[in-house]
Amino acid sequence: NASLATVDADVAAAVARELHRQQSTLEMIASENFAPSAVMEAQGSVLTNKYAEGYPGKRYYGGCEHVDVIEQLAIDRVKALFGAEFANVQPHSGAQANAAAMFALLNPGDTILGLSLAHGGHLTHGMKINFSGKLYNVVPYHVREDDLRIDMAEVEALALEHKPKLIVAGWSAYSRQLDFAEFRRIADLVGAYLMVDMAHFAGLVAAGLHPNPVPYADVVTTTTHKTLGGPRGGVILAKEEYAKKINSAVFPGQQGGPLEHVVAAKAVAFKLAAAPEFKERQERVLQGAKLLAERLLKDDVAAAGISVVNGGTDVHLVLVDLRNSELDGQQGEDALHQIGITVNRNAVPFDPRPPMVSSGLRIGTPALAARGFGAAEFTEVADIIATALIASAGTGSLPGDTAVELRERVTALAAKFPLYPHLSADANL
Ligand code: PLP
Repeated sequence: NASLATVDADVAAAVARELHRQQSTLEMIASENFAPSAVMEAQGSVLTNKYAEGYPGKRYYGGCEHVDVIEQLAIDRVKALFGAEFANVQPHSGAQANAAAMFALLNPGDTILGLSLAHGGHLTHGMKINFSGKLYNVVPYHVREDDLRIDMAEVEALALEHKPKLIVAGWSAYSRQLDFAEFRRIADLVGAYLMVDMAHFAGLVAAGLHPNPVPYADVVTTTTHKTLGGPRGGVILAKEEYAKKINSAVFPGQQGGPLEHVVAAKAVAFKLAAAPEFKERQERVLQGAKLLAERLLKDDVAAAGISVVNGGTDVHLVLVDLRNSELDGQQGEDALHQIGITVNRNAVPFDPRPPMVSSGLRIGTPALAARGFGAAEFTEVADIIATALIASAGTGSLPGDTAVELRERVTALAAKFPLYPHLSADANL
């Protein structure tokens, strides 16, 4: 029963440094969040020892009486949270949830329609070297060039032309809500299944602050660690008629033993997501993103050639448009990293720069809202980001004195909302 620090000082030190990084910087990667301690406690529990192939009440292993209770709680809670008829809580990740959902509904060679990766779609929606691109015939749809919103007329035209078996609605880098009713109408027009991947905005849906795709889609997939704020993992929700196919596509189709420690952590996260505090937190997520977009649309930012993709946001993230700026995505990411703000560079639609450099930044507010940030702090962080991007736009790097001043403002914000205050990095550093 020796501690991690005793058994493996190298790993313990790296974990401590990561804790310190999370505590002392501002996390604004749109797909990240801070799992509550109760979630991490469940995930770090003895459940990691248990094999439980199968489903509650129908396992291929003995001794599953307690994990059955836990998995059933997770299933019941996530169904209630989203109003779904059926749930499978075993996918190890969002990508595996999508793989299993497609495996359940499609045969290799079938045609799927998904948002182009370059326009904000996910790898699993049809990227060439992803399983989705290798197994299925992918027809990508796009955003319009004038307003950078999803072109539903193109979705309809492509559906009529290619008669897909599945239409995927969902995104990794898009800042507006989708029209689920319109996707449903188009799917019905050509007899396609509709799958919504709500990985990014599931927390907003759970809080009632974003339209719920569940009533419209045959299948809804999600991750549990983005806006939903739980452990890393995936979930599939569906109409009851697909229950058997989906269960068998997850196990034994795609996976072996479920990660019951993660399933327990999902159960805890679903309970927390149904509480009033969760809604209040998601309201701050949206408010923070709006304040950031407003700041980045001001004249001083525009003068540096920097703008916001499709002029604002309805969700938890802002896409910064650097296509008309000398600053590229890599430089923007580096400048913010230098002052302790973590974001990721991201291609924007019709991006003239190569994907590894890109002309965009994807900046999200869920993790800071989880820390407790409200309007005042989001206003301050928005100004820090605007100042850093303007200051680095000319040369591609941040002048030293500006960097020092902005890093101090970041440190003050981080200190105002201590993260995991009961955990101390110092002992193992
Ligand atoms: N679906 C969408 C829309 C995503 O953005 C992501 C993650 O970035 C995934 C699926 C995949 O999730 P995971 O990283 O857990 O496999």
